[in-house]
Amino acid sequence: MHIGEKIIDRPLRWGMVGGGRTSNVGYKHRLGALRDNTAFQMVCGAFDLDYERCIDFGKNLGMDPKRLYPDYKTMFEEEAKLPDGVEVVDIATPNFQHYEVVKAALEAGLHVICEKPLFFEVEQGLEMQKLAEEKGKLVCVTYGFSGSQLLLQMRHMVKEGMLGKIHMVDLKYTHGYGCDPKGDVQSEGQKWRVDPTKVGKSFVLGDLSTHTFYESQLATNDMKVKQVLCDRQAFVGSRYPLEDNAYVLIRYEGGAVGRMWTSCVDAGTIDTQVIRIVGSKASLEWHDANPNLLYYQEQGKPAQTMVRANDYLCDECNADESLGATHIEGLSESWANIYLKFAAAIDAKNRGDEEKLKNMVYPDLQHGIDGIRWISACAKSADQGGVWVDFA
Ligand code: NAD
Repeated sequence: MHIGEKIIDRPLRWGMVGGGRTSNVGYKHRLGALRDNTAFQMVCGAFDLDYERCIDFGKNLGMDPKRLYPDYKTMFEEEAKLPDGVEVVDIATPNFQHYEVVKAALEAGLHVICEKPLFFEVEQGLEMQKLAEEKGKLVCVTYGFSGSQLLLQMRHMVKEGMLGKIHMVDLKYTHGYGCDPKGDVQSEGQKWRVDPTKVGKSFVLGDLSTHTFYESQLATNDMKVKQVLCDRQAFVGSRYPLEDNAYVLIRYEGGAVGRMWTSCVDAGTIDTQVIRIVGSKASLEWHDANPNLLYYQEQGKPAQTMVRANDYLCDECNADESLGATHIEGLSESWANIYLKFAAAIDAKNRGDEEKLKNMVYPDLQHGIDGIRWISACAKSADQGGVWVDFA
């Protein structure tokens, strides 16, 4: 369990390329890196293609304007001159820029966190592997859900043989937000996703199924894939030669088989990622929409639902735990909202803006008092043998 105390001597000096105000993914990176304030410290950014917006955005994040840069090249050059320059860089730009920025970052002697899919070609990956080794630096890829603790429990149970011999790996990552093609021309974040020069060889195979593929590798202890057979199509024809739907059959070394369905035209679906591993004795199934639960089904026995943060889970799984079993993962979002609203309320109070304060919704002193009233009234009622008592 970790509850925010430092795990390394000092926070690493961290910067971002991309991930600016209009980006889809930037906030998730800052949320991941900065939650505990003990592992990473944000020192610089080339957040945006629009430099004015980068500066404005960075200032609003409380950053030193001198360390907000017009582009990544300038950032790497200028930071290298500082005694406390950036050490780790995060690359959250559209896909086609990953290769050049990762290369420049490694050459500048930085560790790298890069978005998926990493590059267009395997050869580029091998080249960067060599460069990273030469420079003594590490590269991490942000498959967002792969930090979910229960994937480590799956990995443990597969390794311990609790499923028997693995026969099938059934994977799915679909949503329906691509049904309406308007986004392809109207949304900045979608335009590059349907342009082969910017997104690479694929749309949903890269955008969605790379996540699930890695997570399945994690859960199966890196079961080696021998062959794949893919059928892909663009139901929104303008996306051709890219796909908005694909089915993939998988053959693993050792005889196991698998399948992946990935799609952004799965109408009516919000976001469903499912990993099911079927062995000769039992199966495991995990859904990203409910990451707190892992379903364990042994043939001939009642099915079990395993819940995050319990002692029956493996040590690796519980080591990544922060909240405890009674609190679901989404609780951290809720806590952050409470703190944000209270900061805004304090600010309004300090400025004498009573009108704003009046309309703010957060659990204030009155709600605290109501909580005490609730307890008192309930206790009084129970102590009197379960009778009606006034609440006020
Ligand atoms: P986006 O188009 O919404 O945002 C891209 C951002 O990068 C913008 O702020 C843009 O101004 C900035 N940018 C572009 N080129 C730049 C450059 N050369 N220098 C500095 N800034 C630059 O894209 P997005 O949806 O946020 O996707 C970005 C990357 O993140 C993609 O590789 C995508 O596949 C990945 N992604 C990952 C997840 C995940 O869950 N891991 C989720 C969404 C997107």
